[in-house]
Amino acid sequence: VRIYFQKHLTKNKMWKVALPEFTNAHLELKTALTYADGSPKYELSAAEKVRIGEIYDEYESQKGVSKESLKGTDLSDDTLSALYSAYSEVQEANRLSSLRARILLNVLCPCCGISMSDEIDHHLPRSIFQTLSIYSSNLVPICHKCNNKKRTVTGENPFERFIHVYYDTVPDKKQFLNAEVSIKEDKLLIKYFVSKIPELSDLIYQQLAFQSKRVNLDKRLNKETNVFMLSFFFGMKEAFDKKGSKAVKAFLKSNAKTFQKNLGLNSWRTVLLLSLSNNDEFCGGKFLDVLGYK
Ligand SMILES: [Zn+2]
Repeated sequence: VRIYFQKHLTKNKMWKVALPEFTNAHLELKTALTYADGSPKYELSAAEKVRIGEIYDEYESQKGVSKESLKGTDLSDDTLSALYSAYSEVQEANRLSSLRARILLNVLCPCCGISMSDEIDHHLPRSIFQTLSIYSSNLVPICHKCNNKKRTVTGENPFERFIHVYYDTVPDKKQFLNAEVSIKEDKLLIKYFVSKIPELSDLIYQQLAFQSKRVNLDKRLNKETNVFMLSFFFGMKEAFDKKGSKAVKAFLKSNAKTFQKNLGLNSWRTVLLLSLSNNDEFCGGKFLDVLGYK
């Protein structure tokens, strides 16, 4: 049995993922168009290889923003459909499964931050951008639920797109994800939402708000909230019994720090713990009712 020790809980923070390491786009293209015995599935001409390389380079300089020329409409239909079909090699147990594994390895879903990513999404849809079907920078990790919700996003309107988790940057030192706490009839209700702060460009703000609505972030996070908070219950109770609400606040704040370090300031776990640590009612003993102790 091999045990892996990891410095961090996951490789990424919420909203942001590092580009997969050790990829070689030309080699991956060649592998995807060749059978395991080395015989060709589809042969690209030298000119086509150059053209596809140019499209890949353009994708990088565009930082994944959709553009007509990335569609490669000057390539033949046969070539475009061979590229489209080549994605099957990225599926499990196929020729490019190691690329798949590198993209998904220990990555929390950047859209919801709830579960680990277990699927790959084409940031620019494969049906429209056949050229980018197996291009690693266009293959982003996502969880099944979020992927399902994203599927029908066309991205025609720039404000109605998901952010590019490899290329777009979101502030890490300023808070834009909020968890507004309210307690009604001993029930903890949290409103999770993205707010516009000066450090967020208007476009990124709109996209974050769009994608969060699309994946039902608020509703899904509310489902997670109580179970997540239960794991802090005895810590909170011990603090409360010894030193009252001040100690509960300090306990929640120190836990928020751990989550901030690992998952970022703008991860839902961090902002939830921070909001609760600032809630006098919750820390003053209401947490006992809310979490079902009384
Ligand atoms: Zn997700």
